[in-house]
Amino acid sequence: MKRENIKDKILKQQDITQDEALFLYNILPVQDLLSLGNEVRFSKIPHRRVSWQIDRNINYTNVCISACKFCNFHCTLSQKERSFTTGMEEYKVKIDELLEAGGNQVLLQGGLHPHYDITFYEELFTALKEYCPSLKLNALGPPEVSHIAKMSKLTVKETLIRLRRAGLDSLPGAGAEILSDRVRREISPGKPDAKSWIEVMEEAHKLGIGTTATMVYGHIETTEERVGHLFAVRDLQKRKPDGTPGFTAFIAWPMQVRGTKLERLYHIGKCSPVEHLKMVALSRIILYNVPHIQVSWLTIGKELAKLALHSGADDMGSIMMEENVVSSAGANHRISKEKMIRTIEEAGFRAWLRNQDYTPYTPHQQEGLA
Ligand code: SF4
Repeated sequence: MKRENIKDKILKQQDITQDEALFLYNILPVQDLLSLGNEVRFSKIPHRRVSWQIDRNINYTNVCISACKFCNFHCTLSQKERSFTTGMEEYKVKIDELLEAGGNQVLLQGGLHPHYDITFYEELFTALKEYCPSLKLNALGPPEVSHIAKMSKLTVKETLIRLRRAGLDSLPGAGAEILSDRVRREISPGKPDAKSWIEVMEEAHKLGIGTTATMVYGHIETTEERVGHLFAVRDLQKRKPDGTPGFTAFIAWPMQVRGTKLERLYHIGKCSPVEHLKMVALSRIILYNVPHIQVSWLTIGKELAKLALHSGADDMGSIMMEENVVSSAGANHRISKEKMIRTIEEAGFRAWLRNQDYTPYTPHQQEGLA
């Protein structure tokens, strides 16, 4: 296999084959792969600018019927001492703190609750928007949307239309893990399958709702399955209607398993720093049609994140006020606004504060921040 032929295809934004992707990942020297990822990044975004965002995670409930083996966050309804559903007064405090910190977006996620149908979410979104009309709701990953549709006896399309009418602005790409049903049956058998994740994203894109895509690697998946996941995202992005945002960014991170059932059942070692960087570069190369590659500083740490910005990533994501889900399984890095800017600058880039849809924060909001 000739590396120059593959590079030519990549720089012409053509699809590479699975064999070519495996060649890049398994055979090409690491420095060549990372430098190719970086070259693709600069061909798409020529500025030495790295975007970032201020948002806040809020979990509306931790009650979930899925019981994914890697999740320490969820509990059942009968675990009364642990289970919660966030109340409006708590939302108000958290939203006020977010506004105080200069943010305008909430990443709202929870579990697959056995009782809540679409009216719960419609009432919640409406109340949040009434309290803060400028608030952006980046809410509900595809498994939650599939679950709500099932609970409410609605199609996915009807569900998304009603959620959007109530205040949904965009969908996070959560719950993709690895888009392979072999893997999903092992690690998250109660979660909707890979086809359902793709169906929700495809309907969202047809409705013009912007989304992100994610991948969680480093557990029981094969390299072929990682590549298959990236191809599924690339091919779905090709089907988005012209003029709609589709996937705005892709984010991959290593599975956090500390204290989880998955850790007890399988021997899952930590991915090496090089493996993380190779995943960033491979994502950038395969997903030529997704505008941004985000680095998961929360799971890989700030120092490695700086190197990822030289391997294909152009976005540092959010400072993530109050992340609870992956943090409960071992991701314990934290970052402040000042540290985010410093980290980007130390990596040799200019920090650029953005909104969820990659438009710039307005100048007065940016004052003193970037
Ligand atoms: S990862 Fe999400 S869907 Fe799975 S058990 Fe945890 S809360 Fe439920």
